[in-house]
Amino acid sequence: MDCIFCNMSNVIIENELSIAFYDIYPVNEGHVLIVPKRHVNDYFSLNKDEIDSINDLLFKCKELLDKELKPDGFNIGMNCGREAGQTVFHCHVHLIPRFKGDIDDPRGGVRGVIPSKRIY
Ligand code: 5GP
Ligand code: ZN
Repeated sequence: MDCIFCNMSNVIIENELSIAFYDIYPVNEGHVLIVPKRHVNDYFSLNKDEIDSINDLLFKCKELLDKELKPDGFNIGMNCGREAGQTVFHCHVHLIPRFKGDIDDPRGGVRGVIPSKRIY
């Protein structure tokens, strides 16, 4: 199938149903994507075993990033659907390490999907 995430080679960690690799245009150093091996468009199409496998890699990648980069926090996010910002239509979870001072005022975090509503 002509899908970049069905054909990833630089895998960092994998389990039976999912893989993790670094985002090629990282928001911050260590930005990881976790994707199911099965091609589905988004999170809501996953089955329970795939959700568990993605969750397993989320924790493993967090542990790895903690060791390698010692971030001060993380954002975990998914864009489900074009209007929600999705550009690659193979389900993926963004795990983004955050570092003190990487932006001036980080309050609101993922609320920033609507930038004017990030800080409340
Ligand atoms: P979306 O906007 O669909 O939530 O996120 C797609 C993500 O895939 C973006 O963060 C983008 O940087 C990343 N990406 C796009 N093409 C590639 C690629 O060929 N390799 C990797 N590793 N990441 C990619
Ligand atoms: Zn795919």
